[in-house]
Amino acid sequence: QTRQNAINAVTNYQPSTETLNFAETSPAEIFGSNVFNEKVMKAMLPKEVYKSLMKTKMNGEKLDPSVAGPVAAAMREWAMAKGATHYTHVFYPLTGLTAEKHDSFLNPDGAGGAIAEFEGKLLIQGEPDASSFPSGGLRATFEARGYTAWDMTNPAYILENPNGTFLCIPTAFVSWKGHALDKKTPLLRANQALNKAGRRFLKLFGADDGSMVVSNAGPEQEYFLVDRNFFFARPDLMVCGRTLFGAKPSKGQELDDHYFGAIPRRVLSFMMEVERELYKLGVPVKTRHNEVAPGQFEIAPVYEQSNLATDHNQMVMTTLKSVAKKHGMACLLHEKPFAGINGSGKHLNYSISTASLGSLYSPGDTPHKNMQFLAVTAATIRAVEKYSKLLRAVVASAGNDHRLGANEAPPAIISIFLGEELAEIFNQIELGDLKGCKAKGCLELGVDTLPPLPMDSGDRNRTSPFAFTGNRFEFRAVGSNQSIAGAQVALNTILAESLDYITDEITKITGGKKSGLKEACQKVLQGIMKQHGHVIFNGDGYADAWQKEAAKRGLPNLKTTPDALPALIDKDVVAVFEKYGVLSKDELHSRYEIYHEQYCQHIVTESLLTIKVAKTIILPSAIRYQGELAQVAASIKAAGIEPRTILLQEVTDKLRDLQQNIVALEKIVAKEDFKSVEEDAKYKVTKTLPAMLAVREVADALEGIVADDLWPLPSYQEMLFIK
Ligand code: ADP
Ligand code: MG
Repeated sequence: QTRQNAINAVTNYQPSTETLNFAETSPAEIFGSNVFNEKVMKAMLPKEVYKSLMKTKMNGEKLDPSVAGPVAAAMREWAMAKGATHYTHVFYPLTGLTAEKHDSFLNPDGAGGAIAEFEGKLLIQGEPDASSFPSGGLRATFEARGYTAWDMTNPAYILENPNGTFLCIPTAFVSWKGHALDKKTPLLRANQALNKAGRRFLKLFGADDGSMVVSNAGPEQEYFLVDRNFFFARPDLMVCGRTLFGAKPSKGQELDDHYFGAIPRRVLSFMMEVERELYKLGVPVKTRHNEVAPGQFEIAPVYEQSNLATDHNQMVMTTLKSVAKKHGMACLLHEKPFAGINGSGKHLNYSISTASLGSLYSPGDTPHKNMQFLAVTAATIRAVEKYSKLLRAVVASAGNDHRLGANEAPPAIISIFLGEELAEIFNQIELGDLKGCKAKGCLELGVDTLPPLPMDSGDRNRTSPFAFTGNRFEFRAVGSNQSIAGAQVALNTILAESLDYITDEITKITGGKKSGLKEACQKVLQGIMKQHGHVIFNGDGYADAWQKEAAKRGLPNLKTTPDALPALIDKDVVAVFEKYGVLSKDELHSRYEIYHEQYCQHIVTESLLTIKVAKTIILPSAIRYQGELAQVAASIKAAGIEPRTILLQEVTDKLRDLQQNIVALEKIVAKEDFKSVEEDAKYKVTKTLPAMLAVREVADALEGIVADDLWPLPSYQEMLFIK
């Protein structure tokens, strides 16, 4: 029996005898060893080429195409010295996954031999067959061509395999008309927009010193680990990434004994190997610990600039998965692998900064710096309130729907947590009556310093989707399986718009003069608070009272993906994305289509598998049990005793319910003629998901009564607690 075999395999598991030795090669030595980083470039490239590259990278200057030749030559030499035979343009299509297509360096030399070649033009541009990647109508199939373009702001790197290595070149993926078909292109555009607006804003405050305004991301990645034998005994986990069946374990997470507990040995050994692999790739992973749910863990890097952090997070996800296999486990990145058990998110720590000023979300120590800090924070409050539906839309997915709105992750209502002290300060700004206010002892912008703001301990308010944590905001609604690009594209764009708004409004009042800045700023911030301040909420986001209060405040509460996605094509959203050149109307519409399709496809797969597992695995085992009970009853009767048949009756009833519910689900799934993706997606929410749940409920009840030795699927208990 599969389940028993899985349990046996887990019990007899022998850890690999291959060991890592961090004493022999220190992490510092390993770090970045597979990265074509600045140090390598400086050593290998002609001086002018290196200088020119750095100008593009550090100051955002246009890339000089003549550098491609020398860079390609150096890359090839470096990569081949590390055993690389192939190169690949790595890109990030709208599936949210990482895509790569390998090409060998070797070319026939015409005389029966081969020579290694890698020209500049192969570095700069690639042409993968793009027809199988989602484009949402941006690329008609007859012009299937898509181009990958070298993203020189992120370094190339080498990936290892026991049988060889290959060179990976980060690229953007666009259609031949230049439409963004990926997650990277809009991020690069949004970074530019933020830089431009950010510098304008800083100039107003006399703080623009020529360095770029960038955004930073520190994504905390949560994940589950289960033994691979269990994984393969659960078709639902294998195909859908989450369990479609399974009764709650009697020992759940109520005891909270897992969180920050000692890390199990096999898991720790896995983590160490993950970290070592990521060190080689220059990913600065720093934190590892158990998470709240049993079997759940977290890995977090030190924050980096948005584009690099995004690529690195993709590498973290890929590495977690591949190393888990080596250690006999499967890594689950799904947002909700187990019903009734905490799901996984990806808290996105977000800040904007310049090299010289550091985080613009750090309160300063002079009144002037404070004013700037409060203005940036006000810009954020405005942006998040004005575009809260967009922020909900960029984290919408079938998987994340199980998390947002269940009482464990932030609710689907987008609000901001500022902490008591900062909230009070903004309260005063809103009241604004400076004279009256002064008497009550409140702060005057640009004159007073702020009282010290305590750092949020991280756990203090987990219930808020967007929390201020001392020198950054933490956007907690991102799903564990999602790319962090979408959230950052949205944040950078709406923040650029808000910073521009503040700059414009203040300039209108001051006429561009220095004097009067603080009064003007006070006035503009007061206006922002009056209009958008209701997005601030410091209380318990899980409470029912908040749902009611939020409704009263007019904050949207978009519970499902089909509810959330329309924000992508809202007039306001299209306008802001077009104004800042981040995504065109067509590009937004394509995303709207694609994300709907992905959502529907997900639910279709899940519903088909629900039917299959229910019919071919659960039903047969329950029938076997029913047969056993009936036989026993018959023999008792034959012995002249009246048998008690309560259990037989119960199993029989449940079996009937299960069959009925399966038939009902089959009927629902059979409908395929939808007029639009919207109609299709709505149908999935209102019909398919409830029908799947109805099948599951009976099946889970059966799991509680069918004899354990007849139950084929590994239980929650087994998957979560056997390490
Ligand atoms: P916690 O679990 O307490 O919220 P972690 O240590 O797990 O915190 O993760 C915090 C993340 O925030 C790290 O990735 C860290 O590098 C990142 N971070 C710290 N400062 C900033 C900042 N100014 N901007 C962006 N991210 C930051
Ligand atoms: Mg953490």
